[in-house]
Amino acid sequence: MIKRIRGWNSRKISYSGRLILVKSVLSTIHNHWSQIFVLPVGVMDRIQALCRTFLSEGEDKYSKAPLVAWNILCKGKRNGGLGIIDSKMLNVAAIGKLVWWIASKSDYLWIKWIDSIYLKGTPWMTYTPTDYSSWAWRKICEVKETLKNGYIIGKWRGSDHSYTIADGYKWLMQEPDQKVPWYNLVWNRYNVPKCSFITWLIQHQRVLTLDRLHKMGIVDHTECYLCGVEMETHAHLFQDCIFARQCFHKVAHWLGIPATALQDWKKLICLKCPSMFRRQIAMAAMVSTSYYIWHNRNICRLEGYVMHPGKIAQMVQIECKQRVIGIHQGPLKADDMSWCTKIGFL
Ligand SMILES: [Zn+2]
Repeated sequence: MIKRIRGWNSRKISYSGRLILVKSVLSTIHNHWSQIFVLPVGVMDRIQALCRTFLSEGEDKYSKAPLVAWNILCKGKRNGGLGIIDSKMLNVAAIGKLVWWIASKSDYLWIKWIDSIYLKGTPWMTYTPTDYSSWAWRKICEVKETLKNGYIIGKWRGSDHSYTIADGYKWLMQEPDQKVPWYNLVWNRYNVPKCSFITWLIQHQRVLTLDRLHKMGIVDHTECYLCGVEMETHAHLFQDCIFARQCFHKVAHWLGIPATALQDWKKLICLKCPSMFRRQIAMAAMVSTSYYIWHNRNICRLEGYVMHPGKIAQMVQIECKQRVIGIHQGPLKADDMSWCTKIGFL
């Protein structure tokens, strides 16, 4: 994992790019072993720490606290997380497969061997390993104790199929399916991933605004860089700041919707739109505007100049247009088509 991280020259990869690498590469390197053995806690902790550090810092050495706690990152996207797999839980769920095979007396040589050496006719669900049993076998028995309430005579928790690793993982994570109200805004398909990510951070109040940095003792002032008047908080920077208002106003004017709806996601998700497509474009525009406000704030902090709101609105338009052209498939309704022509997409 460390070799991969160092090979990615990772400082140049955005957070959303690093997230993809964590989910599709780093979290899967140990998968093969994870399905055969209960891996030692120290190893799992190290794997988790590497994923967490790479995600937040882009390298393998820990130097600052991550923006968001790991347990939130491991929640599903519908529940407000980023859907990163919790390696420890996945390991337990994967070993649950072995437990299930023993419970269902599967026709494998290994199961027959377990039966004749360890179980010797004792019912599996009530079996307790002896102190002389091997470490690996005792760990499998621990997983059995964790999962045994879910095994109900030939079925897994009332389902109509046998145990799957996905079932076990879901049960262990104990995540109720409670969709966060901003799910459709943040994970809208027309959003550019980097913009989705910054909006996800805003929803968790985890962007490093000056009020937070001041509380941490990192900066000694809290005045907003963009207006120079108010304290820079999440609500101020992305909603109330005069600069943000001007940006939202220009983007809203381009889309033909009220600026107040674009400034406040709660109003935007309730806004009456002639079609789902137009609502999704409005959401993508809001998310993109928030990203460019933050981007501009950082330019202002480092280089001391502020971009004109008109320029930001222009960047939002270009980005939305490129995204729609890049991912939209299938024909549009006649109404949406003429709207696209009106706003300059076609
Ligand atoms: Zn301001």
